[in-house]
Amino acid sequence: MLRIDGLRKAFGEKTVLDGLAFEVASGEVVSLLGANGSGKSTSLRCVVGLERPDGGTITVDGVTAKPGEAMPTVAMVFQKIHLVPRRSVLDNVCAGALGRLGLSRSWSVLAFPREVQAEAMACLDRVGLADRAREKAGRLSGGQQQRVAVARALCQRATVLLADEPVSALDPAASEQVMNLLRSLADDDGLAVAAVLHQPNLARRFSDRILGLAGGRLVFDSRSAEVTDETVASLYRPALEALE
Ligand code: ATP
Ligand code: MG
Repeated sequence: MLRIDGLRKAFGEKTVLDGLAFEVASGEVVSLLGANGSGKSTSLRCVVGLERPDGGTITVDGVTAKPGEAMPTVAMVFQKIHLVPRRSVLDNVCAGALGRLGLSRSWSVLAFPREVQAEAMACLDRVGLADRAREKAGRLSGGQQQRVAVARALCQRATVLLADEPVSALDPAASEQVMNLLRSLADDDGLAVAAVLHQPNLARRFSDRILGLAGGRLVFDSRSAEVTDETVASLYRPALEALE
């Protein structure tokens, strides 16, 4: 379970997160929608420890993070997939266990322990890619690589999975597959999933709740079925009007 409360972040003079607060329960998928620059990525980056917030609290499964600290059970996947292309799919998944093994940087020169490899295989099986374990990660399609990134998060034993535009670079079929996977991680494995999406229809179909962000604040937090086209359009209208 993830809870963020009063999250604040500024870059220089510019306030990017202005007291953001929301929760994602275990077993829940929550989508974040908002115009470019509304603070979606910054909020997730604060949660995963890639940015240090100026204020507010981040609580994961009842434990409050120290500011700017990475929590071992929070994983993140990105639009631009961060795999090591020359390493095998299996090694990339094993890399999820590095934090637990206390090995942060040196993994390019080591072989992973057998039990980690076995766990990684189970994670690959979970995302439907066990048969690709020995291939170089860079040879897989974008959608497959995104599923490998999700398997790596599973090998990290994450309880909170953050996804920043996980399907923005994928075709409709691969997007569907990745969204189905995120949904099943919540439904079947009890993960708390928070996904930034630029596709309101995917957000409606795959998430329990939709959060609307504007100017680093929450402007709505609603059950997906209750989010109307008009509500979604209101998030993007200021940017469109600025063009006129
Ligand atoms: P997008 O839909 O384009 O991905 P976003 O909602 O994810 O947008 P953020 O990436 O969180 O937006 O950025 C919010 C604001 O913070 C933007 O104005 C951005 O320029 C600014 N920003 C983000 N990171 C930095 C940084 N490291 N230094 C300075 N400004 C930053
Ligand atoms: Mg972003």
